[in-house]
Amino acid sequence: MKINILHAGYCTAPEHIAINGGRWRAIRFPAMFALFRHPKFGAMLFDTGYSYRFFDETKKFPKRFYRWVTPVTFHEEDLAINQLSAFDLRPQDISRVFISHFHADHITALPDFTAARFVYLPHAFGHLRGLPPTEDLKHAFLRGLIPSDFDSRSQEVDINRFILLSEEYAPFKSGYDLLGDGSIIGVELPGHAYGQMGLFARDESGQVFFFVADAAWLKQSIIENRPPHKVANFLFPDAEAYRKTLKDLQSFYFTHPETHVIPSHCEETIREYESASYQH
Ligand SMILES: [Zn+2]
Repeated sequence: MKINILHAGYCTAPEHIAINGGRWRAIRFPAMFALFRHPKFGAMLFDTGYSYRFFDETKKFPKRFYRWVTPVTFHEEDLAINQLSAFDLRPQDISRVFISHFHADHITALPDFTAARFVYLPHAFGHLRGLPPTEDLKHAFLRGLIPSDFDSRSQEVDINRFILLSEEYAPFKSGYDLLGDGSIIGVELPGHAYGQMGLFARDESGQVFFFVADAAWLKQSIIENRPPHKVANFLFPDAEAYRKTLKDLQSFYFTHPETHVIPSHCEETIREYESASYQH
């Protein structure tokens, strides 16, 4: 399997919100997505980054508030579908989109992938499904981003079919073998959003990537076990679980230095991997 790390647009927010004790200046948070090209299962994505739909969906109040809090910069060439053409891939070539969680910056381009199955932990969407629309903003959820045929294309992870993970993944003990061949393992990373799923993915040269989504916004948070500002707790459904997940990530980071740990919005990390020679 080939793995490419890309991003579609970015938002800005003060650094001290993303990491306790950070500076007051605004920094960029790229909206990462990853491309997997698997010899058997074809092209697949982890999340999608931003698309124009974000702007369509946040035109009116109160959802316009979303734009104010996280101003988004996005250009035509940033669209995931436009970046995929560099890999000779058409949108309908994407067979699966693994969804970490349903915050807008991770799912905005879902409707572009008309042939894809959507793979996610059931409780990630289960609690949003029953939410009154007035609660959407509180959960950073824009329901207009969900494709109309979402249910028929959903392939929810069967949480009863978990596997026990070897020491290679410690302290993470259980996960989901999402393709049945061990190449992509989903693990729940609780705290930031309901049913947030991270992925371990192994490329053809044996390198292992750990996509941790928003379990930490910056790699520095993992290294120093330093959480975001307290104000971010308003966004998290379980702040205590967030702290525990962050601690586990720190422990993983130092015991498995050979694994590439990729937070979805860490600009330094995304830049480093986007320019890495193993891409393409
Ligand atoms: Zn998020």
